[in-house]
Amino acid sequence: MLPEYFEFYMPTRVAYGIGLTRNLREITDGFGSRRALLVTDEILNKIGIVAKVKAGFADTKIQIVATFDQVPPNSTIETVEACARLARQKKCDLIIGLGGGSVMDTAKVANILAVKGGRVEDHMGAYLLGNDELLPTILIPTTAGTGSEVTKVAVITDTRNDIKLPFAETQFFPQLAILDPELTTSMPASLTAATGMDALTHAIECYVSKDSQPASDALALHVIKLINQHLVRACMHPEDLEARGAMLVASCLAGIAFTQAMVGMVHGISHALGGVYHIPHGLANALVLPEVMEYNLETQLERYADIARALGVAYPQPVQTVQAMLHLARADFAVRLLQPTRVIDSWLQQATARAGIIRIRELLRQLGAVAKLPLNLEQAGVQDNLAKLEQVCETAMVDGSMLYNPREPSLEAVKSIVEKLFKQSLTPLPVKEKDLNQSYRQAHKPELKNVFDDSSMLYSVLGEFYQALKSDPALRDKLLDSKLVVQFIYDEPDARITIDASGDEVQIFLGDSYQGTPEVIMSMKADFAHLFWQGKINLITALTRRQVKSKGNVPKAVKLLPILKPAYELYPRYLEQRGLERLIA
Ligand code: NAD
Repeated sequence: MLPEYFEFYMPTRVAYGIGLTRNLREITDGFGSRRALLVTDEILNKIGIVAKVKAGFADTKIQIVATFDQVPPNSTIETVEACARLARQKKCDLIIGLGGGSVMDTAKVANILAVKGGRVEDHMGAYLLGNDELLPTILIPTTAGTGSEVTKVAVITDTRNDIKLPFAETQFFPQLAILDPELTTSMPASLTAATGMDALTHAIECYVSKDSQPASDALALHVIKLINQHLVRACMHPEDLEARGAMLVASCLAGIAFTQAMVGMVHGISHALGGVYHIPHGLANALVLPEVMEYNLETQLERYADIARALGVAYPQPVQTVQAMLHLARADFAVRLLQPTRVIDSWLQQATARAGIIRIRELLRQLGAVAKLPLNLEQAGVQDNLAKLEQVCETAMVDGSMLYNPREPSLEAVKSIVEKLFKQSLTPLPVKEKDLNQSYRQAHKPELKNVFDDSSMLYSVLGEFYQALKSDPALRDKLLDSKLVVQFIYDEPDARITIDASGDEVQIFLGDSYQGTPEVIMSMKADFAHLFWQGKINLITALTRRQVKSKGNVPKAVKLLPILKPAYELYPRYLEQRGLERLIA
């Protein structure tokens, strides 16, 4: 059933790609010349991620004039204030957040202080900025969990009062979110597990939220599927970029979903556990999640059954299936006869919903084995025999997330969940390699850069290659059939080559020697063309990424792609014949 009213607003441009942060020139072009503050943390600085991303900005119009690397996990009011001071001192007009949720949230709230001044507490709340603008922002996550790079919320810890302060502003949506799985391979397994469970919690909570809506529903179910398939694998194989990529995308999609439909009681309790006992956010969510699912189950039975299906643990619904088949066979009298037995289906629906909870507990136990994820609050660091239980419960009860929980949260329920979690005895469950269904992609592919020394080398290599192409009878005939005139404009080094197949013969023109008007013009870096002719680049994706700019009848040129396939084998052979093996990718 559709809700009576809903909104979906997501103004952030999201770009995903393995190695995307190595060169940020094109993707950041729209920002123009800027003085940027880079917000990050000490660990990311130490392990080289900061240097790597700074190198990616080197070739852009964005100048990083200051770096603030003092963000702690669960960032604090003092951190945000120091960060904003630096932004003001250095007269920054762009903020880049590079890190986990703590860094990204610091960047968001520091942005308010940098622009509006005042204290952090003055800005706590929702939509207080009205139409005021903040500095433009680029967020680059290095964990796969919070989705903060696409949310309008931020959470900052008030250490004096042991609470987490919530902020919600539409202006928090950054202009650009950059997802590069390479930046997440350094996460230890325990962090991968906890942050991944954070993303899973976002998806599950927003799917059953009181404010759920069709767009976030669609995203949430896909996120659940992705995480179920890739989280354990990412923990076991940190360099597996396919698993890392899937987790990063899942985290981002979950962020997009929950910032529309909100989260519930799991977050209410875990914010309190984070504020009072400083338990990392993802870990707290992971532990609380199955307990709240249990508490909510009856209120949202159908939706929890959908979640179980996305987790791959559904029971079939035989009566419904048989009825559907009979209906197709026009045996409607038999459909009616079966109606009373549908009670079997509703029982199986309930069993399915429960199976989802069982799968979540199994996942936790697997993470206990592969990532040493603590499986109760004592192992998670609560060492005072839960002396602050009352404070945790009271803090949880006033948390804003509680408002969206499908079942009214009661103080007794919160208390009994926290007590149960304190010493519960879940045991780690080992995972076998053969159960993982993995396919590795290497973390660091050798990169071919600046392949052509200068324009004359390019004309010599690519120009002669095009001559070779046109001498291949099969290719020549198909080019002539197309009657196309396509011009390639290369950059770094500059060059221009036109292939004219409009007449009786294919002609190749170098430089400005072509005098007509090409039907299609494609501009790209010379390195790109070199990789393209080795079949290493998907032109369609490249057009989306604006790595190739095109003018004219592009669909006609794209239709030529299948006939070019033999050329992908020809080019490496040609390079070899010319003694240029070093250029083969
Ligand atoms: P985090 O940002 O606190 O980082 C945890 C630790 O991981 C840090 O020590 C950091 O240095 C390290 N780290 C980060 N990336 C790494 C990498 N690639 N390799 C090695 N170490 C790395 O963790 P988090 O879970 O991403 O963020 C948690 C914070 O985000 C909490 O404050 C939580 O309340 C908040 N949060 C915000 C939103 C939102 O939408 N704004 C949503 C959920 C959670």
